Amino acid sequence: MRRRKTVFVDADILVVGGGMGGCGATYESRYWGRDLKIVCVEKANIERSGAVAQGLYAINCYMGMHWNENQPEDHVRYARNDLMGLVREDLGYDIARHVDATVHKFEEWGLPIMRDPNTGRYQREGKWQIMIHGESYKPIVAEAARKAASEVYNRIMVTHLLMDHARPNCVAGAVGFNVRTGDFYVFRAKAVIVAAGGASHIFKPRAVGEGMGRTWYAPWSSASAYALPILAGAKMTQMENRIVLTRFKDGYGPVGAYFLHLKTYTQNAYGQDYEPGWFAALKERVGDYVDRHPVPTCLRNHALLEEVKAGRGPIRMVTKEAFQDPHKETVGWENFLGMTIGQAVVWASQNIDPKEINPELTTSEPYVMGSHATCSGAWASGPEDYAPADYQWGYNRMMTVEGLFGAGDAIGGSAHKFSSGSFTEGRIAGKAAVRYVKEAGRERPVVSEAECEELKKAVYKPLENYRIGRNEIVAGTVSPSYLLPLHGLQRLEKIMDEYVGGIGAHYTTNEPLLTRGLELLAMLKEDLAHLGAEDLHQLQRAWELHHRVLASECVTQHTLFRTETRWPGYYYRADHPKLDDHDWHCFTLSRYDRQSGKWAMEKAPVYHIID
Ligand SMILES: Cc1cc2nc3c(=O)[nH]c(=O)nc-3n(C[C@H](O)[C@H](O)[C@H](O)COP(=O)(O)OP(=O)(O)OC[C@H]3O[C@@H](n4cnc5c(N)ncnc54)[C@H](O)[C@@H]3O)c2cc1C
Repeated sequence: MRRRKTVFVDADILVVGGGMGGCGATYESRYWGRDLKIVCVEKANIERSGAVAQGLYAINCYMGMHWNENQPEDHVRYARNDLMGLVREDLGYDIARHVDATVHKFEEWGLPIMRDPNTGRYQREGKWQIMIHGESYKPIVAEAARKAASEVYNRIMVTHLLMDHARPNCVAGAVGFNVRTGDFYVFRAKAVIVAAGGASHIFKPRAVGEGMGRTWYAPWSSASAYALPILAGAKMTQMENRIVLTRFKDGYGPVGAYFLHLKTYTQNAYGQDYEPGWFAALKERVGDYVDRHPVPTCLRNHALLEEVKAGRGPIRMVTKEAFQDPHKETVGWENFLGMTIGQAVVWASQNIDPKEINPELTTSEPYVMGSHATCSGAWASGPEDYAPADYQWGYNRMMTVEGLFGAGDAIGGSAHKFSSGSFTEGRIAGKAAVRYVKEAGRERPVVSEAECEELKKAVYKPLENYRIGRNEIVAGTVSPSYLLPLHGLQRLEKIMDEYVGGIGAHYTTNEPLLTRGLELLAMLKEDLAHLGAEDLHQLQRAWELHHRVLASECVTQHTLFRTETRWPGYYYRADHPKLDDHDWHCFTLSRYDRQSGKWAMEKAPVYHIID
């Protein structure tokens, strides 16, 4: 096997993932830790990486406190309502009280935020959203992180976290490889902040084959934010709480600006308002959650799904009226051009002019994330001045592994953070990590050389598998002795789709299906030892698959554990079709034992701090 160079990097704070959370963490770590070495490592290039790579048209989390528009408590109530009662109110409040300051910084750094010409305030799209000219949102945010970091390492895929050999249950850094040069990297750090985004492509997408990259969520979001802490033994929470989005069909264009700003609305194929018709039956399942305002996102999905099942699809967004107003027509198109150009292209290719035709809506395949309208992620310690005792065991945003922090999609229990909230949570984690490094008298971590060597061998194994196995075939991509990352990915997506509640199963599952799904996932996990990678790009795909499979197993375990249907419209436990507040008004927690491969599940209380 070709010898690969090993590069050692020492840092005080290592930030894994330079998206919104990672940039926030890097920026704030420098503010509090002027004398510290702060390193950010990113598998792409922070200039255009993560879910915000393409730009955004709205910042979805902004209180407007200095105009007395909303208070942090209001946002907690909103998120709690949308998540059917289950959120970490301490974490949500902590973000909400700081998020405005973050947005003001973005504006100072050059992000154009639209203003209401009458009031001079930021132009609201909805109660929580403000409108931006955000094509360059990510480069603007990345510049701040670049200036703050001691070093930014782009193009390095982090594969594993390292544990401290002198201190039990304590993180010591991370390893990964450069996807361009192939060099192996060992990062030794006193504190690690994981901000590596959420997970797309764990469930089979609607677009397969030539269109398989066309998903709502960025195809490069590969579940590292979950797999890295899981492997390190961190507790995870609410991993069953996958998200399903109602979006414009085929291009996944966002609907927020349409509903909120253009005041468009939906109707079934026969021009009827179908939503309220499903709410009476839904009350039987979820009680008065359906009467709340705004109606929780999952329940609105449910109405759409039921209407389509009843044979009255397709569901359409009524755009023809709004688009008669030239201002609204401009906003409608600009909305896509600033963040989802693909939707405009799809409409053009399908002869859809929203002024003439009401475009179709559909529901996406499920994704796993902790910063949008769901809250999967790591179980984190809360703010010292606000979190109940059960939610405090260390520094703010520290996971159940010492020295391991997280932000954005990585942290569970706190939905509706979005881009601004994820950056804010990165800042909170950065500040806490600096305190940890300084106060806890953290020594240089002790990293085992033997462990690094072992990991190095494991990381490049797929290249070796391919090099040897390739000789056994003369043509084609199917080999008797290796599995290509794409084949593994498709196998994963099929298992998750059919057994864990994907589109093919109408988002429905039950105990026997989940149990069988786990068996199949275990077999897939065994086969991952035989992944074959043709080049460094495929090697990255191989490790992304490893991360996706582990996160999927976690999702399946959580879905099995929660014996109720808490979020109809996101997924259904057919054997437990009702919401059960008596037994399940709680968080689900899991912990993976990497030696035995076993999962331990438990419940944790939900505290309602705000009335
Ligand atoms: C389709 C879509 C639309 C959205 N629309 C809006 C909106 O309109 N308004 C709004 O405010 N918010 C919006 N959001 C939410 C917002 O984008 C996220 O909340 C935010 O980006 C989450 O921040 P993060 O740091 O957790 O993840 P990301 O910003 O996705 O960053 C994760 C980073 O980690 C890197 N990474 C991943 N794995 C590894 C690894 N193994 N090694 C090294 N690096 C790694 C990635 O390359 C990436 O740079 C949207 C999200 C999506 C998916």
